[in-house]
Amino acid sequence: MPEANEKKSIAIVGGGVTGLVCSYRLSQLGFDVDLFEAGSRLGGQISSYSTDGFLFEAGPNTVLGSSRHLSDLVTDLGLRSEVIGANLSAKRRYVFNSNGFFEVSPNPLSFLTSSLMSPYGKFRAASSLFRLLPRLQGNESIQELFAKVFGEEFAEKLIHLFTIGVYAGNSKELLAKHAIPNIFSAFDSSNSLMGAIKKIKSQRSHSSRLSGQSLPQIYSFNGGLSQLISTLATKTAHSTYLRTPVKKLIFGSNGVYLNEGKKHYKKVVLALNYSSAITLLKSSDLIAQSLDFDVEAANVVSVGLGLKAKIHLNGFGVLVDPSIGLNTLGVLIPSKIFSKRAPIGCDSLTLIMGGTFHPTFANRTDEEILHTATSDVLRLFGVGASEIVQSHVWRHPQGIIQPTKKTIESIKNLETLLLNYEAVTYANPLAGGVGVPQRVAQAIGIVDSICSTS
Ligand SMILES: Cc1cc2nc3c(=O)[nH]c(=O)nc-3n(C[C@H](O)[C@H](O)[C@H](O)COP(=O)(O)OP(=O)(O)OC[C@H]3O[C@@H](n4cnc5c(N)ncnc54)[C@H](O)[C@@H]3O)c2cc1C
Repeated sequence: MPEANEKKSIAIVGGGVTGLVCSYRLSQLGFDVDLFEAGSRLGGQISSYSTDGFLFEAGPNTVLGSSRHLSDLVTDLGLRSEVIGANLSAKRRYVFNSNGFFEVSPNPLSFLTSSLMSPYGKFRAASSLFRLLPRLQGNESIQELFAKVFGEEFAEKLIHLFTIGVYAGNSKELLAKHAIPNIFSAFDSSNSLMGAIKKIKSQRSHSSRLSGQSLPQIYSFNGGLSQLISTLATKTAHSTYLRTPVKKLIFGSNGVYLNEGKKHYKKVVLALNYSSAITLLKSSDLIAQSLDFDVEAANVVSVGLGLKAKIHLNGFGVLVDPSIGLNTLGVLIPSKIFSKRAPIGCDSLTLIMGGTFHPTFANRTDEEILHTATSDVLRLFGVGASEIVQSHVWRHPQGIIQPTKKTIESIKNLETLLLNYEAVTYANPLAGGVGVPQRVAQAIGIVDSICSTS
C-alpha cells in the first residue's frame, strides 16, 4: 500500500459497477483516484426506477449470493440489512413453447417430472448419471457440451433457452469454456456427472465459507440494485467526474494524460463496455484504425410493465422458445421474485427483447417496441392492454457481449497488444462470466494487481 506522500495516481474510465468498485477499493487503500463517467449518472447498466409503488430495473434484476467478493463488498458497505432475498417461489421457472407453459426448476434433473421432453430425451439425460463424462476438447459450444453429456434434446429444449435467458444469444455459438467457465471446468476435470456436480457445489460453498455469513442465493436490495451503486457513489463522490467522456489517452514521460487534461496518471483502468474501449484506444492511436478488434454483442431491449392485476404464474420468470416467433426472449416477474416491487393486487414484468435472435429489434421506436411487448404479453399471459398501467423501455446497445470464437480471439488480441502499455489495464467484460458478481470479482482482482506492483 502506498504511503500518503507518494500516492500513485490512478484514473478509472467508466462509472459502471466495475469502475466504481475499483475506485472505492483503491481510494480505501490510499491511492489518488479519479473516476470519469461519460453519462450523467453512475451505474452503467444498473439502474433502478421507482414510480407509483412499482420498482423496475432497467438492467440486472438480481444477483447471485454465491459470490464471495460481492458478499464481502456488501458487508463492507454496511448494506447487509438492506439485502432482500428472493421468495421461495422464485425457484420455479417456466418455459413457454408452442405447446404452452412448462414448469422447470434450477435442479437439472427435476425436468424428469416435466412433460417438456420426450420419454427418450428424459431417459438419455438421466442415463448420464451412469456414464463416464466425455473427453472435452475445450472448443465446445454450450449446446455441444450439454448434448455430449445429457443428449441433444436436453440441450435443445432446456439449455438453449437458459442460455438465451442469460446471454440473449445462441447456445450453438457461445463457447462453453468462456460462457460458463465453472461448469465447463467441473465437467472437464471429472469422470462422472456426480463428481462434476460435487465440484460445482463445493465451489459455491467454498465461496460462501470464505465470505463468512452467506447471503441469500438470489438477492437484491430494498431500493433495487441501484442501492449498491448509490452507496458506492457516496463513498467515491469526491473524485468522480460525471459527463466527462474520455476520448483520448496521451502518453507522456511521467504518465498518461486524459483528453486535454493537465493531470497525469501512473495507471489508467478501462472499465468500459468493449466497443467504447476500442473507440478510445483507436482514437489514442494504440490500435490502428484499420485493425479489426470487433466482438459479437447482443443489442438488448428491456421493457418494464406494471399491471393492475395479477398474472396466473408464480415464479422467477419465463423462458420463451424463439421458434414460436415472439420478439420476447424471456420475462422476469419482479413482483413475484421480491416483495414490495408492485402495489398490492398488482404485478410487474420485465421483458427481455431483441438479442442476437432479433438483432434489429432495438432500432424500433419506443412506441413500436411497446406495441410488440403488449401483444407478446397478451399471448403469454392473457393480459390485455387496458391492464397495463406502467410501461418503460430501456435500451442496451451491444449490452451483452457474446463469448463466441471471434469475440474471444479479439479480446485475446487486445490483451496481447496492451501488454506493451503497462500503464493501461483493461477490465475484460467476459472474465469469469457476464454478471455483476463477476464484474465485482474482476475489479477486486485489478485492485490486487495494482497493489502488488506498487
Ligand atoms: C438487460 C440486462 C440484464 C442483465 N441482468 C443481469 C442480472 O440479472 N444479473 C447479473 O449479475 N448481471 C446482469 N447483467 C449484466 C450486468 O448488467 C453487467 O455485468 C454489469 O452491470 C456491467 O458493469 P460494468 O461496469 O462492467 O459496465 P457498464 O455497466 O456497461 O458500465 C460502463 C460505463 O462506462 C461508461 N463509459 C463508456 N464510454 C466511456 C468513456 N469514453 N468515458 C467515460 N465513461 C465511459 C458508460 O457510460 C457506463 O456507465 C445484465 C445486463 C443486461 C444488459
